[in-house]
Amino acid sequence: ANWVYKFGGGKADGGTGDKNLLGGKGANLAEMAGIGLPVPPGFTITTEMCTRFYELGETFPDDLTPEVEAGLDHIETITEKRFGAPENPLLVSVRSGARASMPGMMDTVLNLGLNDATVEGLARAAGDERFAWDSYRRFIQMYSDVVLGLDHYLFEDALEIAKEDKGYALDTELTAEDLKALVRRYQEIVAEAQGDPFPQDPQQQLWGGIRAVFASWNTERAKVYRRLNDIPHDWGTAVNVQAMVFGNMGDRSATGVAFTRDPSTGENATYGEFLINAQGEDVVAGIRTPQYLTKAGKDAAGADKPSMEEAMPEVYGELAKVFDLLESHYRDMQDIEFTVEEGTLWLLQTRTGKRTASAALKIAVDMAADGIISEEEAVCRIDPKALDQLLHPTLDPDAKRDVIATGLPASPGAAAGVIAFTADEAERRASLGEDVLLVRIETSPEDIHGMHAATGILTARGGMTSHAAVVARGMGRPCVSGAGTLQVDRDAKTMTVGGRTFKEGELLTIDGGTGEVMAGEVATVQPKLAGDFATLMGWADAHRRMKVRTNAETPAECRTAREFGAEGIGLCRTEHMFFDAGRITSVREMILAEDEKGRRAALEKLRPEQRGDFEQIFRVMAGLPVTIRLLDPPLHEFMPQDDADFAEVASASGLAVDKLKRRAAELHEFNPMLGHRGCRLGITYPEIYEMQARAIFEAALTVSAEDEAVLPEIMVPLVMSPGELATIRKLIEKAAEEVFAEMGSRIDYLVGTMIELPRAALRANDIASHAEFFSFGTNDLTQTTLGISRDDAGRFLGQYVDKGLLPRDPFVSIDEAGVGELVELAAERGRATNPDIKLGICGEHGGDPASIAFCEKTGLAYVSCSPYRVPIARLAAAQAAL
Ligand code: PEP
Ligand code: MG
Repeated sequence: ANWVYKFGGGKADGGTGDKNLLGGKGANLAEMAGIGLPVPPGFTITTEMCTRFYELGETFPDDLTPEVEAGLDHIETITEKRFGAPENPLLVSVRSGARASMPGMMDTVLNLGLNDATVEGLARAAGDERFAWDSYRRFIQMYSDVVLGLDHYLFEDALEIAKEDKGYALDTELTAEDLKALVRRYQEIVAEAQGDPFPQDPQQQLWGGIRAVFASWNTERAKVYRRLNDIPHDWGTAVNVQAMVFGNMGDRSATGVAFTRDPSTGENATYGEFLINAQGEDVVAGIRTPQYLTKAGKDAAGADKPSMEEAMPEVYGELAKVFDLLESHYRDMQDIEFTVEEGTLWLLQTRTGKRTASAALKIAVDMAADGIISEEEAVCRIDPKALDQLLHPTLDPDAKRDVIATGLPASPGAAAGVIAFTADEAERRASLGEDVLLVRIETSPEDIHGMHAATGILTARGGMTSHAAVVARGMGRPCVSGAGTLQVDRDAKTMTVGGRTFKEGELLTIDGGTGEVMAGEVATVQPKLAGDFATLMGWADAHRRMKVRTNAETPAECRTAREFGAEGIGLCRTEHMFFDAGRITSVREMILAEDEKGRRAALEKLRPEQRGDFEQIFRVMAGLPVTIRLLDPPLHEFMPQDDADFAEVASASGLAVDKLKRRAAELHEFNPMLGHRGCRLGITYPEIYEMQARAIFEAALTVSAEDEAVLPEIMVPLVMSPGELATIRKLIEKAAEEVFAEMGSRIDYLVGTMIELPRAALRANDIASHAEFFSFGTNDLTQTTLGISRDDAGRFLGQYVDKGLLPRDPFVSIDEAGVGELVELAAERGRATNPDIKLGICGEHGGDPASIAFCEKTGLAYVSCSPYRVPIARLAAAQAAL
């Protein structure tokens, strides 16, 4: 096998097309080198080596050694430096790079190749002793942390002590002599901590670095990140070994990060940050607050800081050309890392930049308008799930705000929550159902689980490209970063700002669009879905085949769904109307009745209420199809839950409490989900379905008399045999004819069924002779096909996914291999009997993009999902069709 791919000197063994093998970083470095951009020479060890490394019990095969040696030779030839040489030594970086970017999740070692001899050679070659010793102390610190696994606090403490001894405030005040002493101190720390001295052999350092990067693929934080982002565990990472270039060689050197368009707003203007005389990780780690590329900023003391355009006009000019070139080469917004070494520009990375949902929309729409991409490509560029960010409330502009600090608007959206100062605490509180704001000095990749659990993130340090900002944007969490006036005391669990102290658990609000931090909870308003959103959704609609309906019961939900573009109701769960305060009493009266007469009397009280609900829904939906499902849940769900409840029902119904309790005990079921529910209720208590059918027809005729079109579709739940449906269909038709006669007019309607039991899918051919439509109830169909209770699955399904026994949670994304096959089979058999049968889906999967793609493949006519997921479904349906 060929484990090593070289790049640099205007050539490369691979390119962007080799992402699977070389990882994103390696493939793009190769691509940039190949098109003649200034990339420090290096080589990539493939992701296949990562797989092999784990197969061999975390060891390397023998044939890797000569390939790495050849790779090193290649770098030495181009740079005219030698690795480990006492004069003009070559130093390298060793970095991870998976197929999908996992920012900050895996390890990196810089300045590798330094030892007690080469540091002197570096000092002579650079003509700068201080720089060489500073590089050496950084290397020992990083290598000890990443490769030797020593606690980085050991080194940070030693650094702080060294500064304190001399009365320095900044790292940059340390002299070459101070740094030499610090290096000796670091070496003592290493020797004490691990019993062996810090490795002096550059080859040993290199192999240690390579091993550590491969091993970092399987750290806990990397695994968590992959799970959150659906990245398969078996992809592996590549390792990039590359000649070091130095942004910390004085005032003509710098390092920075740039986006070719603004990643927060999508504005077509370069957005970036840089630090003069600094090394790569300083910008990303958010340790010093950086300067902007194109506009002047302020430092912590309020003094002006020039932009890169002002400070380094020539290099900036070159960089600006590179931005244009890379963006048109990749035809997408790029996120670029660069270093300037004594006035020479070097590119260290380019990748498709992460962006907020609104930036993604603006960039896609702008690029299509400029003819850079097609409308279809624009539609396919937006992650449907990311739209979620835009559909949720923003701060009410008229609400009172008690602003306590302002930071950078790192990731838009409003978030209110209680303060948590650690990721674990954020996770703990979130699991109890609290909205949590994670407040940190800065975040690190170890905080990823807390960031995910939080509704928003606030940091005291770090710029727009800090870890917190990048990860928050990717996750769609609102984030304010670099709110420098906050003093966060993690140990005391307090945050102090402007003389006020906030404790863990107190409420704060952040506005990630403005950078404001506010005490308490600030009111929010619904977003306006105009502009780029409307444009892109218009393009999506033009390419979509499937219709998108909504699952809704209340007029308010129906209105929201229509604003989001719903084209009908795919599921109206009538039982939700049974729980309303005034009605539950009649429902219970019906359940508790001794006989049919008693039940009918109670149902008569419910009928006008249901009719009123249906009228309102028909009016809001104005002629769009409305699928109303007859009663589904087991009756015990409507029964009193505790003694106070029983007492209340007793006094309302005039029945004795013990009699009530006896009746409740009679209704008790061992497995209510598989018990007396769905159409089984309609078979045993036909009067319930009769009442519901009458209410639907009465409402339909009333509204159609107002000159509004009405399209009712009556749906029968949990059918397993054609006989059930035929029986209930007859009952519905009878109710229809009675109402038509009473009210003196008629209306068209459909009768259909849910397919949510395996037997229904298997008997779909017979069932279809009584149905005008099928709606796949994939919640129950998943539950009954896998034999996994939908209410209890949460306790163990996570482990199934982690262990690779299921690819995803089957209640979120349809289990194509099992449930999907039943859906396909039912669709096929249903169509065989009734070629015009209308097929749709109304389980939760109707709002999940992967499942929507499956529905398109199966040829369903529509998907139905909750109102807030309607736009997601519209876009996903378009992408599935394209
Ligand atoms: C289903 O089972 O998929 C469905 C939509 O019905 P419910 O969730 O109400 O059981
Ligand atoms: Mg169901």
